[in-house]
Amino acid sequence: MFSINETIVALATPPGEGAIGVIRLSGKDAITIADKIFKGKKLANQATHTLHFGKIVDAEQQNRIVDEVVASLYKGPKSYTGEDIVEISCHGSDYVLQQVIGLCLREGAQMAKPGEFTQRAFLNGKMDLTQAEAVADLIASQSSAAHQAAMHNLRGGFSHELKMMRDQLINFSALIELELDFSQEDVEFADRSQLYALLNDAIEKVAALIQSFHLGNAIKNGIKVAIIGKPNAGKSTLLNALLNEERAIVSDIAGTTRDTIEETLNINGVVFRLIDTAGIREHTSDAIESIGVERSKKAMQEADVVVYLFDVTENSLTDIEEQIMKFESNNIHYILAGNKVDTLGLDITKEKFALLQQMLFISAKDKENIHQLKQTLYDRVVAGELKQEGTIITNARHLAALKDVLFSLNDIRNGMDNSLPGDLIALDIRKCLFHLGTITGEVQVDRDILGAIFGKFCIGK
Ligand code: GDP
Repeated sequence: MFSINETIVALATPPGEGAIGVIRLSGKDAITIADKIFKGKKLANQATHTLHFGKIVDAEQQNRIVDEVVASLYKGPKSYTGEDIVEISCHGSDYVLQQVIGLCLREGAQMAKPGEFTQRAFLNGKMDLTQAEAVADLIASQSSAAHQAAMHNLRGGFSHELKMMRDQLINFSALIELELDFSQEDVEFADRSQLYALLNDAIEKVAALIQSFHLGNAIKNGIKVAIIGKPNAGKSTLLNALLNEERAIVSDIAGTTRDTIEETLNINGVVFRLIDTAGIREHTSDAIESIGVERSKKAMQEADVVVYLFDVTENSLTDIEEQIMKFESNNIHYILAGNKVDTLGLDITKEKFALLQQMLFISAKDKENIHQLKQTLYDRVVAGELKQEGTIITNARHLAALKDVLFSLNDIRNGMDNSLPGDLIALDIRKCLFHLGTITGEVQVDRDILGAIFGKFCIGK
């Protein structure tokens, strides 16, 4: 594991050419090392949180000037890592940056491992684990919703919620133990209904957090949408209409290969990923319908929400009702969109499908009501769930720990239901506090887990 005695160095900005590149040094010798290569004011004598112009020179090569730079000085513990930090802003040439890093290494710094700066911040108590994880999420955020969720956690929103729950449990535990102290006298000090109320409240909160993961994960990774419908329903026309209107960002989502580049829509700051758009395009003129059907099935299984598109002229009310039954019996979250309303006319279409609630009437060709379709996607998938106040879980590690918390909360409740002795209940409470503590890192977290969390960071963070 990391040795906190070492002073570490890394490029903090992305590699490649840029206007500036920032090299970060952190550790007990950060200022001494910087002073050996920085010619300007002696940094050790300067006040913390100050900027200094100077030159980086190579003493072993007759003080050859490597670059003109600005050094930012942060003396611990008031710094990101809690240690002394010097950040050297150089001109952003790979050559210059490598030279400066090389000089720092020569003067005794060690190359930082991925996430090591943030890991030190955690180890030095500058932030808890959820905040450290939020740093990674913030850097990776691609939409305003993902950004907002990461910011909430970074600013300690989730930690605060966990702390409240912890306090509540400690309070609960105190009441139970009070009862223990007087057990000989057979008195119930802790008002049972009050205990149940505390417990039920905690169970409700944890369950809501667990529930929020579905949306949180979707926000973080994009909400998967499948456009499904018979051949000629107008799927590819709709796809184009959706993409044109939003001037979609075509991005390669991390972890996928180039040939599975997805098309994405940003609706009110949330990323929606349109899945199997290649399938939609390929199979419009494809006679082998079965392949298309297989692909649709797969897309449907993967999707968070399905847009079922149908031609209002070609389908009867019964056709659609049958389709709805299929969706419902398979628990598929769907949105109904009747297409080609222009051919039938809005009034007649509405009359024909009057029995279908929540159906959208669109014309993909004329781009009619495309905006409404997008708003519906947002409202059904995001707004409906976002209504719950507070934190949204976006992290699988937190989810696993919360499930353990919920499990032990239920154990406590069962214990009370069965009038277990107070000391046994107190044991369950301790278990529950332990699981809560693993989320923020208050209790000792496994080294492997720390490694997994910080290993995902890039070097320099
Ligand atoms: P897909 O097989 O579901 O992808 O369907 P396409 O997008 O290829 O559309 C099939 C045909 O329907 C094409 O000739 C489109 O121009 C036509 N079409 C699509 N949307 C509309 C619409 O809103 N109104 C009308 N009148 N025709 C449409």
